[in-house]
Amino acid sequence: MVSRVIPVEPFDLIIFGGTGDLARRKILPALFRRYCAGQMPADARVIGAARSDMSRDDYRDMAAEALREFGGGRACEDGTVAGFLDRLDYVQVDARGEAGWEDLASLLGEPRIRAFYFSVSPDLFGDLAQRLTDHGLTHDQTRIVVEKPFGHDLDSAKALNTALAAHFVEEQVYRIDHYLGKETVQNLMAVRFGNVLFEPLWNSQFVDHIQITVAETVGVGGRGEYYDHAGAMRDMIQNHLMQLLCLIAMEPPAKFDPDAVRDEKLKVIRALDSVLPHHIVRGQYDAVAGDAEHQGYREAVNNPRSTTESYVALKAHISNWRWTGTPFYLRTGKRLVARSSVINVMFKKTPHSIFGLEAGGGPNILSIRLQPNEGITLAVTIKEPGPGGMRLIDVPLDMTFAEALGPEGEDPPDAYERLIMDVIRGNQTLFMRGDEVEAAWAWTDPIIAGWKARGDVPKPYDSFSIGPGDADELLRRDGRAWRGIKP
Ligand code: NAD
Repeated sequence: MVSRVIPVEPFDLIIFGGTGDLARRKILPALFRRYCAGQMPADARVIGAARSDMSRDDYRDMAAEALREFGGGRACEDGTVAGFLDRLDYVQVDARGEAGWEDLASLLGEPRIRAFYFSVSPDLFGDLAQRLTDHGLTHDQTRIVVEKPFGHDLDSAKALNTALAAHFVEEQVYRIDHYLGKETVQNLMAVRFGNVLFEPLWNSQFVDHIQITVAETVGVGGRGEYYDHAGAMRDMIQNHLMQLLCLIAMEPPAKFDPDAVRDEKLKVIRALDSVLPHHIVRGQYDAVAGDAEHQGYREAVNNPRSTTESYVALKAHISNWRWTGTPFYLRTGKRLVARSSVINVMFKKTPHSIFGLEAGGGPNILSIRLQPNEGITLAVTIKEPGPGGMRLIDVPLDMTFAEALGPEGEDPPDAYERLIMDVIRGNQTLFMRGDEVEAAWAWTDPIIAGWKARGDVPKPYDSFSIGPGDADELLRRDGRAWRGIKP
């Protein structure tokens, strides 16, 4: 099956922070893949803008190296790398000074779709927005793209929103949460709202509970300083896991359009109850004994008394007609046993078993796997084949894309490919609106403030384990258990 490529209009994409890690690892490879797919118009241009003093050729060399290292996936035919690099330009600018802005202005020329990607530290967002305006670089086809973290708490998120709102209307601001760009996450909406089967069951009458797990095997790596000020709650729950929760829990929007979808997500966040202290577990990973490469969290962040969590598990309740009585269990952590992001919708048992409880089988589970091996599986109960009476087993109805969709499914577009093209198309559906981000912080802040007030210390857990034992207890006392992390 060959997917349709819908060309976009000619554009200029300016990457502030164009020499940084995110640009090299994600943004440039994503653009390259869209170029290979034939989605980039012939006169689209990508301009790296950063502090380093380098020529256009140096930048193209850097980009070529980045594509070699991170390009991955579908190979372009010979010669196309050169074609893509031809579209790249570079300008040295200082977000905090005047250097380079006139050069950028002269590179831009005719007004057309102009996307400024702020792939820099958030404390530069206000400066960049101000200078773009001062130098007359914005017009009504201008969009700006901002990365996470969008704020450290509610106050700082509000300050960022205010700084951006001084120069741009909300329709011009694209706040990235790359989880929303994942094929499976969009498929979750397709499954929910494109089929008649699921929606009638999608409520507390039929869903026992929902588990959302985002497990990583990596530790904090080189991000120790940032991470120790953030922790798993700010780095993962406030954005990625809450976005997934919103898409699972929201009411059907009237249309698949940006404000209709985001209005519904916002209602979910606003309907979340405060989390009780005994409904949340924090952890910090230990070193692997005798293995200098796998330091414990505190050594990795160089803070022997750090009380920042590298793991969180919590039970959330949504107080509305659809979900009262169905808990949402969220967990995320670093240095866990496997890299696995999965949502499990755990349906209730049948009201009565005509086969007798000893026959086994059930309940139904809809598993939405984000990584690895994106796909959706529905566990259904059938009869175990063969003679020997009516014994039941659960088999997966597998919607794994690799099998169902052939090569397209094996190599779905990276989230950044989708999201960047949506910016160019001017479609904000998969981006967070300012009020959504603020509402998410308003829910998260009291949890973090509670830990601080109580002097809470995260529980240690073994590296490459399933996390602290208390997280199991969180479900066990409700008569439930986590689904295994390993996919
Ligand atoms: P980085 O430190 O690797 O790169 C920073 C870039 O900003 C460089 O190109 C640098 O030249 C430029 N820069 C710094 N100060 C500047 C100034 N005064 N004027 C102009 N340019 C300046 O950072 P990164 O890892 O690429 O991250 C960029 C942003 O994306 C950050 O907000 C980060 O939190 C976010 N982010 C990064 C990742 C990732 O995987 N790297 C993932 C999610 C979000």
